Amino acid sequence: MPVSQLDLVSTLCVDCGLCCNGTLFDVANIREDERDFAASLGLKVTTGSDGTGAGFALPCPHLCGAACTIYDQPRPSVCSAFFCRLAHALDDGETSLDAAQERVAKAKALLGAIKPLLREGEDIAAARDRWRRLKGQFSPGSNEAQLHAAMVALNLYLHRNFRLPGDPLFNG
Ligand code: SF4
Ligand code: SF4
Repeated sequence: MPVSQLDLVSTLCVDCGLCCNGTLFDVANIREDERDFAASLGLKVTTGSDGTGAGFALPCPHLCGAACTIYDQPRPSVCSAFFCRLAHALDDGETSLDAAQERVAKAKALLGAIKPLLREGEDIAAARDRWRRLKGQFSPGSNEAQLHAAMVALNLYLHRNFRLPGDPLFNG
């Protein structure tokens, strides 16, 4: 769904990037007819987030920090069309820019708590996949136990503040 105050929302998004860096989602859904185009951009085309349709894997290789490095070039339609719950809340006047930026900062702090728990070469999407495969089986005090606690805290916060109705609580 588009936003009406694009400049305001862009001010929030430019310091966020959580919908592109794999924190919010494993996959960005695209149209079937965008498969070849997405692949031509170097995106890893896969099935959509619900196991059907098309998508590309996140984190996106075109993200640098929180900024899209191909912002001014043709991109899959989802890249300009997606806005999260927080972006819509800002657009609708339900939250101020300062308050929304604080929520982004809080989400990034929760994400930061996971970074020391990552294995070598592991990104947030791979860590989330490892966490899912644990299925609650880990030893107290282990890396896996800490990962579980940190993932639950992050994903509850994302679900309350960023994900839209219908998005899965734990993204998979
Ligand atoms: S997660 Fe929301 S606030 Fe962050 S960049 Fe994406 S749309 Fe913008
Ligand atoms: S192309 Fe840009 S907007 Fe699209 S997922 Fe990648 S970084 Fe995000």
